[in-house]
This record gives sequence, C-alpha cells and structure tokens, in this order.
Amino acid sequence: MSLFPDQSEYPDPMNMSYDVIIIGGGPTGSTTATFLRREGLSVLVLEKMKYPREHVGESMLPFCYDLFEEVGVLEQMKAHFTRKPGVTFSNADGSRSSHWCFTKILEEPYCLSFHARRSLFDDMMLNNARKEGAIALEEVHVTDVDLNAPGGGVLVKTTHPVDGERTYAGRFLVDASGQDCFLAKKLGNQKPFERLHVRLALSSHWANPKYNASLANGNITIVHFGGDKLGWIWLIPIGPDRISIGLAINMSYAQEQRRILMKEHGPREWQKVLYLNELAQSDVVMQVIDGAEMCWEVVSNGDFSYYAEQKYGDNFAILGDAGAFLDPIFSSGIFLGMKSAKLVSPGIAEYLHSGDNSRLKEGYGIMEKGYKVVEDLILAFYEPSAMAFPELAGSDGISHDQFEAIYTIYHMLLAGDFFNDSERYRKAIAALRDPEMVKKYLALKKHDLEDDFIQVCQGPLLQEV
Ligand SMILES: Cc1cc2nc3c(=O)[nH]c(=O)nc-3n(C[C@H](O)[C@H](O)[C@H](O)COP(=O)(O)OP(=O)(O)OC[C@H]3O[C@@H](n4cnc5c(N)ncnc54)[C@H](O)[C@@H]3O)c2cc1C
Repeated sequence: MSLFPDQSEYPDPMNMSYDVIIIGGGPTGSTTATFLRREGLSVLVLEKMKYPREHVGESMLPFCYDLFEEVGVLEQMKAHFTRKPGVTFSNADGSRSSHWCFTKILEEPYCLSFHARRSLFDDMMLNNARKEGAIALEEVHVTDVDLNAPGGGVLVKTTHPVDGERTYAGRFLVDASGQDCFLAKKLGNQKPFERLHVRLALSSHWANPKYNASLANGNITIVHFGGDKLGWIWLIPIGPDRISIGLAINMSYAQEQRRILMKEHGPREWQKVLYLNELAQSDVVMQVIDGAEMCWEVVSNGDFSYYAEQKYGDNFAILGDAGAFLDPIFSSGIFLGMKSAKLVSPGIAEYLHSGDNSRLKEGYGIMEKGYKVVEDLILAFYEPSAMAFPELAGSDGISHDQFEAIYTIYHMLLAGDFFNDSERYRKAIAALRDPEMVKKYLALKKHDLEDDFIQVCQGPLLQEV
C-alpha cells in the first residue's frame, strides 16, 4: 500500500505535446521533473512499473539533506524513514570496526541522513513531482524513441497494458531509466568503467532482525571480506523490524561459485545458496539474522559500473543510473542522481528557452568531476595497499580527535562531499592509496578506545515506518 495516495487529476496527456519527456520515475526522473517544472516547463514522466515498486538501494547520504529540503520532501522523510547518523565498517568477525559519525563533520541539521524502503521513497518522490505539476504515468513502457522527429523534437513510443501502443511528442527527452540505460543502449555508447571491477550483488530484506548497538543506532554497517572475492555485505536498518542485507562480490568469484553450486542446487537456487553461504562467513551478520526471516527471494543485480559515452545532445540528456553507475559501496547512487538533476535542469531550461547549451555543458562538467571523486574513492576501498576502513580503528572504536585530518577527509566523502573542491579530494584520496602514506598514518595509530562510538554517534533510535 502506498503511503502517498495517487492524486491524478490530469488533463489528457494524449492531447498535449510536452517541453520535456522523462523516461523513468525513479529518484532521478522525479527530481528532474520537479526542477524542470520550477523552470516553467511542461513535463511528462513515463514509468514502466506500477508504483509502489521495490528497488535496491535504501541508504542515503547526508548531502541529500539540502536536496530533500529544496524539492519539498524533507518533512515526509523525517516522518516516514529511518535516521542514519553514520557508517560502521567491520571485518567479518567483528573484531575490527570503525565508526564514522556525520555529527563530527556536519552541523545540525545537515548531518541528518536516512535509510528508506525504496517502494515508499520512490512513490513519495514521484507524487511530489506530480504536486509540482508534472504529469507522471505509470505502467507506460517506453519501447522506442525518435530523436529526429519533424520540427526538431522527439517522439516517444510506448506500450501500456490497457491502452496499448501510444506515441508522445516532446521538445526534449531526458533518459532517467536507471540501469535499463535505455538511450545509451539505443545509441550504442555504453562503456564499462575500465578501472572498476565487474561485480554481482545479491540481496533481500529480513524481518525481525536482532540489532547490535551500531544498527540499533541507525548506522549502515559494511562488513568487508577483502581477498579475491573483493566481497562486502551491507546491513541497512530500514525499520525497527526490517533490515536490508546485500552481498557484493567480484563477478569472477560469483561465476566460479555458480559452476560449483549449479550442479547441486540448479539454476534457480544457486544464487540463494551463494548468498546464504557468504552471509554465514560473518559472525556479525549471523548474529543479526539469528531468528530473522527472509522477506522475499534473493534479488540479483549484476554488471554494474558503466557509463554512457555521450550524455547529452541536441534534444536529449541522460541522467542518474541511466548515464553512469558506480559500485554502490558508498551508497552514492541516489545522491548522484538527484544532484545531477539539480545541476543539469537549469541548463535544459536555458537551452529550450534560448538554444544556448553552455549551461547544460557546465552542469555536466561539474557532474563529471563529482563522479571522478567517487570512482577514486571506490578504487581506494578495493586496493589492498590502501587504507582498509575496518582497520582504521582500534579493536572496538576510534578516537576521532587523534586522526582529525584523515578522518575529516574520509568523513566528508562518506557524507557525499563529491562536488566541492573535487580536485583537492582526488589528491587526498591518491595520498591515502599510497602505501608509504598508509604506513605513516598507521604508525600514528594508538589504540585509544576512549570514544565509544555510542557517545560520539548519537542518533535517535529507529522509528516505526
Ligand atoms: C546492489 C546495489 C545497491 C545499491 N545501494 C544503494 C544505496 O544504499 N544507496 C544509494 O543511494 N544508492 C544505492 N544504489 C544505487 C541506486 O539504487 C540508484 O543509483 C538509484 O536508484 C538511481 O535512481 P534512478 O532514478 O537513476 O534509477 P532507478 O531508481 O532505477 O529508476 C529508473 C526507473 O526507470 C524505469 N524505466 C526503466 N526503463 C524504462 C522504460 N523503457 N520505460 C519506462 N520506464 C522505464 C524503471 O522502472 C525505474 O523505475 C544501489 C544499487 C545497486 C545495484
């Protein structure tokens, strides 16, 4: 059931042609629709699914706070979703862990972040775009587009389970189709990020988990395996009695496991067996799911880390996951999608008003720099010689003050500071990947446990969703 009832008193979308047609009603499409409406443009969003629908990716960054406030959903976020005061990195048995609390580096209220069940969050965002005057149609699957329609606009072909095939006309197309990458695939310009690994993620929700102190406080926990599988597990407390648990591993390791597990468990079951086998490698995870029930079958997401070589053209722009996707280790996807929408929407409006695309170009330029910061950070996470996040601490905590500089850089990055001063951050990340620098920092490390994170990472207890 949706928390946000449908409020569709629309004019007939067939009788209109739009300034902008957006493919996809995820967070990027909805945010773009909202910003474009505020630029005075008419907007049609076409979403192939019936909302609310589930989606992977529940943990958000504090740098989303401003965006939630600006698009007008902050109060709903506070009312409906779990608060996230920080991040915990742990090794598999929990003997080494580090805790990163956003209150250390961001002032109230901007340190506040959230975890959200995506079915409710995405529905809220789409309805918010409707409130701004966008027309958003569900169960409308875009099957083809003509970017060279008569008069210089675009034609968008769709199918709907009841209405059948329809074609909508617009002046400009935004592709926010997520990992379907509608336009990049059509234009044949989707590329892998050469520097990043091909990976597989397997995930599910669990009911009635047993929270440890860190999860009960609202921290996302990342359990890091390292080694050849380059594996990690996320634990995202999306409510007092519901947690999202996902496994991310190297594709080559997953394929090797597939060969072994398929023989015994068959094509349907092997992923679930692999998922459960890997969760069982971690005492931290096993304690949380002891007595908990899996809410649905394991969902698989593979082949991530790609980008569209051409992200905008005469009458189109590609945004969010449809334009690029980076490994989800730092929970950056929703923020990157929403921030891109904010950076690029004024450029689309200016282009449609005056034909000048310089602002659009500028928006994409800023965006690219931010994505580079995230890419560097991901590389640092997987590099054996770089700082291992769980190892940065003593056996059960960190002393923030003794390592102010390094913790500040990492803290700011974990919070989502990808777009301000990106060159300086890239240099800092490069230093942290340098084995000599790592040695120096580790030599500084004293096992000072005075800052029990519960004291430094205070956040409200999980609330009912
Ligand atoms: C394993 C994994 C874990 C993740 N964890 C996190 C996390 O913790 N935090 C975080 O911020 N991000 C996370 N992400 C990333 C996050 O899920 C995405 O970055 C985010 O959903 C991007 O939003 P979007 O609107 O661009 O795409 P989406 O949310 O995917 O929305 C795209 C929409 O387009 C619709 N669509 C697609 N094709 C068509 C078509 N042809 N016609 C009509 N509609 C269409 C789809 O139905 C969908 O609703 C994770 C991703 C993965 C794979």
